[in-house]
Amino acid sequence: MNYQLKAKPILVDPFGRTVNYLRISVTDRCNLRCVYCMAEDMTFLPREQLLNLEEIETIASAFVRLGVNKIRLTGGEPMVRNGIVDLCKKLSALDGLNELVMTTNGVLLDKYANELADAGVKRLNISLDSLQADRVKKITRHGKLEDVLRGIEAARSAGFERIKLNAVVLDGVNDDEVTELAEFALSRDLDITFIEEMPLGEINSHSRSDTQVASHTLAQRLAERYEFEPAKESTHTSNLASNRGPSRYHQVKGYRGRIGFISPMTDNFCSSCNRVRLTSEGRLLLCLGNEHSLDLRNIVRNNSNTDTDLQAAIQEAITRKPEKHHFDASKTDIIRFMNMTGG
Ligand code: SAM
Ligand code: SF4
Repeated sequence: MNYQLKAKPILVDPFGRTVNYLRISVTDRCNLRCVYCMAEDMTFLPREQLLNLEEIETIASAFVRLGVNKIRLTGGEPMVRNGIVDLCKKLSALDGLNELVMTTNGVLLDKYANELADAGVKRLNISLDSLQADRVKKITRHGKLEDVLRGIEAARSAGFERIKLNAVVLDGVNDDEVTELAEFALSRDLDITFIEEMPLGEINSHSRSDTQVASHTLAQRLAERYEFEPAKESTHTSNLASNRGPSRYHQVKGYRGRIGFISPMTDNFCSSCNRVRLTSEGRLLLCLGNEHSLDLRNIVRNNSNTDTDLQAAIQEAITRKPEKHHFDASKTDIIRFMNMTGG
């Protein structure tokens, strides 16, 4: 008998990039209103327009069958979504998924950290833009520093494989705190990534072209205090040796934690992009900086051959993944906010 082993399908775009990483925005809602992410008065989607948890699981399974091995749950704030822990349990059990990870503002971690770790979430990214309570309040509009610090401690005790802090740096707002933030992370064996602000969604709190700070400026400032060595790993897990991928990490002499930079404005990293995003209403976004999208909700809601059709639609969509983004801080070409996008 002639047994032929069928190769597992994988997603490769026309530029030769393998897509093995899916970010899912599980809700557009949030308990904060960070000034770089949202306008003060936000209108959120009616609940019936959001994917339900079963639909998220169906779409995630289709991606995993197509070779995706890492999923990040994000939002909005993933922990304000009802049923988030159950969703984590289901996704982490998917055959072929190596890593389920989450990005959170940390406010509810005190309550959920242990449950998330038990549900199979391996790593956490926690947003922390300042160590000054009044600044945290100003940046997040509603947040309390003490809640986030408590959340970080709860996460440290819960046994995640790795915890990374994310700080969006705005000139004249928190750029003078990068060394303190780095020290806070490194002294706790945590990684920290400094992120350049992207022009996603119309905001009225500040002009984004006035608050841009280039990662290389921050790197120079940090190099006065720390000795950097290139780390072997970037967030582009299929390309471990090259230190490419959106987040460029540096090992810091004398510390276990690493310092990273995400530089969408000053250092185009698109050639190593390995990810796509699923919005909370089920649109598949092929690129953070382009509006191309495909409505997957329509397929899961109105189709009897859901799995086959989903798989075919995803494979076809990947052939339209744009080559790169073109951000300009003086213009908001992308009207969708980061909370819709799933950062
Ligand atoms: N609510 C969670 C949080 O804040 O971590 C998850 C969602 S949030 C949209 C994901 C990440 O996107 C956060 O680290 C946040 O700081 C970042 N972010 C939001 N808006 C941004 C923007 N305009 N430019 C760059 N990063 C942004
Ligand atoms: Fe909420 Fe995260 Fe956006 Fe802040 S960055 S408003 S915490 S979704």
